[in-house]
Amino acid sequence: MSVITSESKKNRFWRYISAQVRYAVTYMIITTVVLAFLNVYCARVNEQLFYQNKKSTLTEKANLLAAEISSAEELNRLSIYNAVKLLDIHLNRVLVLDADGTILYDTGDGTLPPEIQSSGTQFSWDYSGGVMTSAVSVPITADRQTCGYVYLLEIDSSDGKLLHTLQMNILTITVTLEVVLLLFAVFFVTRYSRRLKTIMGSMQIIQNGDFTHKIKMDGRDELAFLAKEFNYLTERLQTSENKRRQFVSDASHELKTPLASIKILSDTILQNDMDMETVREFAGDIGDEADRLTRMTNKLLALTKGEANTAMEDPEIMYMAPTIQGVVKMLDGIARKNQITIDLDLRQDNTILVQADDLYQITFNLVENGIKYNVPGGSLSISLHRQEDMAVMRIQDTGVGIPPEAIGHVFERFYRVDKARSRQSGGSGLGLAIVRNMVERNNGVIHLQSTVGKGTVFTVSFPCFDISPEEIESIVSEEEE
Ligand code: ADP
Repeated sequence: MSVITSESKKNRFWRYISAQVRYAVTYMIITTVVLAFLNVYCARVNEQLFYQNKKSTLTEKANLLAAEISSAEELNRLSIYNAVKLLDIHLNRVLVLDADGTILYDTGDGTLPPEIQSSGTQFSWDYSGGVMTSAVSVPITADRQTCGYVYLLEIDSSDGKLLHTLQMNILTITVTLEVVLLLFAVFFVTRYSRRLKTIMGSMQIIQNGDFTHKIKMDGRDELAFLAKEFNYLTERLQTSENKRRQFVSDASHELKTPLASIKILSDTILQNDMDMETVREFAGDIGDEADRLTRMTNKLLALTKGEANTAMEDPEIMYMAPTIQGVVKMLDGIARKNQITIDLDLRQDNTILVQADDLYQITFNLVENGIKYNVPGGSLSISLHRQEDMAVMRIQDTGVGIPPEAIGHVFERFYRVDKARSRQSGGSGLGLAIVRNMVERNNGVIHLQSTVGKGTVFTVSFPCFDISPEEIESIVSEEEE
């Protein structure tokens, strides 16, 4: 099984590498085609230039000779020879025919070239084996009558060589460029592959659970950026993994205590002869521990649910006062039992957008703490007011207070200042963690001020939503109508 996995990872890796090779090959093909096209184009343009040049110079010479011959009194070998001499024509062949096609003058082999048989000016050009062969035939006219033909042939190997050298130079430049491009492509693909391999290797190490591993990548390109982001991600993974481990260990430690108590209590009942009254007392204690376990698991569930679900679900526009009154009504009995008086000042109420259950839970936990960590005869004041655009709920108690070094920790899971007191009052150290989670989920902020021996003030603020539920209802019903 593991062989298949590592094999498939290898394949995956090579698939990415081959993608780069594919890009490099495509790039090479495109550049080769472009360079080959440029090469052929330049060669053709050069040939064209030579062709035009030969055509114009040779035709001009032939026309001049034809004009010179036509101006002679008689058309014979001598007059033609004189004209050739006069114009200083040194070509491979000079051929002159009369109108009937009889050769009057020829420096060649006496055969009739094909160009001569056509009427008008005829030019032919051929370039092969480094030799340029140009031939032109023009009519000789006198009194608008064709009285003969001049044919000139030039076999030029020096211009042919020049053209050949030019074409070879262009080819050498093209091939050199192609080789340089190939070397660059190989260099970059190898370098890129090596760096990519580093990243993928690191990914596999991290996949195997080593979140401390960091990718070392120099440079300022996308891969360096990717490595940096990846390192940041693993750091976060490491932090959340540490938190998860801490949470599991804290949770099991906290759950162990009531479970151990239940075990001790039940063992005591089983191992001792007791009267019914004592058994009842022990069973009651077991029930209390079981209740504590239930409360704790419920809170743990609420906390994990809250952490997993960071967005608000079904928020409502609502006033805060009714929720506070509901919580106070619920906890009034415990407050009385602990001789705590609760003062309410809820006149400056504002509407906020919040999940109703979250607002209830936040208020409940804070008010319950205000009672739990209070002193007999103490008081708890709950007030509402507005501060700029925030609706603020203030919960102030005259209880034991929180020492300065603990203030930064009370919102952490399972943190308790006085473990004995908290456990005795059924605390689990989860209440404030849940509160902070819920406040933040509803776009609020929570602050805490405390003085040991004097009391604690919690302020929870939510953005005001300056429209009342009644106004919303009337808008909705108007729309429905
Ligand atoms: P618990 O379930 O233990 O009450 P909380 O998360 O609600 O857990 O509170 C964490 C700790 O913060 C408590 O154990 C307690 O020591 C301290 N604390 C919370 N609220 C108050 C308060 N109003 N006055 C004094 N101490 C408080």
